[in-house]
Amino acid sequence: MAATAGEQQDVRNPATGETLARVPLSSAADVDAAAKAARAALPEWRARPAIERARWLFGLRQVLESHADELARSVTREMGKTLPDARAEVGRMVEMVEAATAVPQTMQGRILEDVARNVDCETIRQPVGVCAAIVPFNFPAMVPFWFLPFAIACGNTFVLKPSEQVPLTQELVFNLIDDHGGLPDGVVNLVNGSVDVVNALLDHPEIDAISFVGSAKVAGYVYERAAANGKRVQALGGAKNFIVVMPDAVIPRTVSNILGSAFGAAGQRCMAGSVVVTVGDARKPLMDELVARTRELTVGDGLERGVDVGPVVSTPARDRITEWIERGIDGGATAVVDGRGASTGTDGSFVGPTVLDDVTPDMDIAQEEVFGPVLSVIHADSLDEAIEIVNRSRYGNGTSIFTESGAAARRYRHDVEVGMVGINIGVAAPVAFFPFTGWKGSFFGDLHAHGSDAVDFYTRKKTVTSRFFSGGDTGRFFVEQAEK
Ligand code: NAD
Repeated sequence: MAATAGEQQDVRNPATGETLARVPLSSAADVDAAAKAARAALPEWRARPAIERARWLFGLRQVLESHADELARSVTREMGKTLPDARAEVGRMVEMVEAATAVPQTMQGRILEDVARNVDCETIRQPVGVCAAIVPFNFPAMVPFWFLPFAIACGNTFVLKPSEQVPLTQELVFNLIDDHGGLPDGVVNLVNGSVDVVNALLDHPEIDAISFVGSAKVAGYVYERAAANGKRVQALGGAKNFIVVMPDAVIPRTVSNILGSAFGAAGQRCMAGSVVVTVGDARKPLMDELVARTRELTVGDGLERGVDVGPVVSTPARDRITEWIERGIDGGATAVVDGRGASTGTDGSFVGPTVLDDVTPDMDIAQEEVFGPVLSVIHADSLDEAIEIVNRSRYGNGTSIFTESGAAARRYRHDVEVGMVGINIGVAAPVAFFPFTGWKGSFFGDLHAHGSDAVDFYTRKKTVTSRFFSGGDTGRFFVEQAEK
């Protein structure tokens, strides 16, 4: 069903400023129609055997795989990241579908025979109902698929609201789903829009569970409002990710990883490295190579070959990031590479890779999420001091340590107050079959996205205690009266 609302929004290519499309924004009536369609589809979909739901996902996997290039180009056009980066994103999207196809195994319950004589007890998993996901701009293909395949694999029906800044890739995905067929009407539904549509989803009585990914402030709000309305909710928020470099780190490989982490997707990843903490003698060799190689990075349209850093998502984002660089410098940082004023001669929104040295842990630039290609550098004397700096952050999404010392790595992994840790890995975003386990201000809820947590989130447990009197002596169970 098409949107009824008259309101439309421009979607722009951030590399050129050109308008890609005008997208109709959904109204509260559209959200209502989507939720009701999802509710109506639920009995038929949950009645399908798990292996049949998995088989539909096998088919979807093939469809996505055969349109991978088109999807990647759509991601680059509307969001800006380079084409190789977008291809990697689509690869991860497909991996989510693959992981979800394990549902005939992962959705199994547990049983114990003879909890009392001839009495059995079993916990089974059933779908939660109608589930919705509200997602951000920075992974137009992958983040919606942290939810959609797992939700429907478990027998739920689903409503997706993409970011209003990047609605086109999911429109393409939903068209592919429609063309592929095999899914009853109403199992998956797409609504577009912003705050009003989010509120309509959070308040809708037919929606049982909400997944949210976005900035910290909105994540907290969504968590509270959805929970107040009695919904199951998981809300993934913002981040400030630290990378610790020990004196024994392999510098060239470490720098390659830092560049990919800090400047890939123009720093617009929730797992982007935002602060490097060098320990002791790591400082000089790391800084020499980091600065030299940052200066070599090419800024431009992500569709072009040889471009390392694409645009940021919009001109307001560019202005906000530029202000952050100014604030860092005003606070005492030194811009050893300054990306302000980067331009490619188009109306695109570019910020060049920026390295701010002499940052101290108390500065705002060391504590607040910038969400752009800006890397701060702090120097520490010891691993203890580095861990203290990292643990001071109110966020706890991702972190990495670069070292060849097993003891240092083990110590870091054990003591750091962050939910996803990379050891000699720059972007430690877990693969689909492990959960995405942010901590502290980066996550509100209990059950995380994808991996085994997805099945826990998307199922309700039901526990059945049973016996049959004709099967033999069952004795008495719990508070049962004795027979006269
Ligand atoms: P955002 O919070 O602005 O938007 C996210 C979603 O919330 C969008 O669908 C948007 O329409 C909606 N929204 C925005 N403002 C709202 C409001 N006031 N009330 C209700 N809904 C609202 O985030 P963004 O700019 O699209 O994405 C970037 C943010 O997402 C960063 O903070 C990044 O760290 C975070 N992020 C986190 C993860 C994670 O796994 N923790 C992953 C990706 C992105």
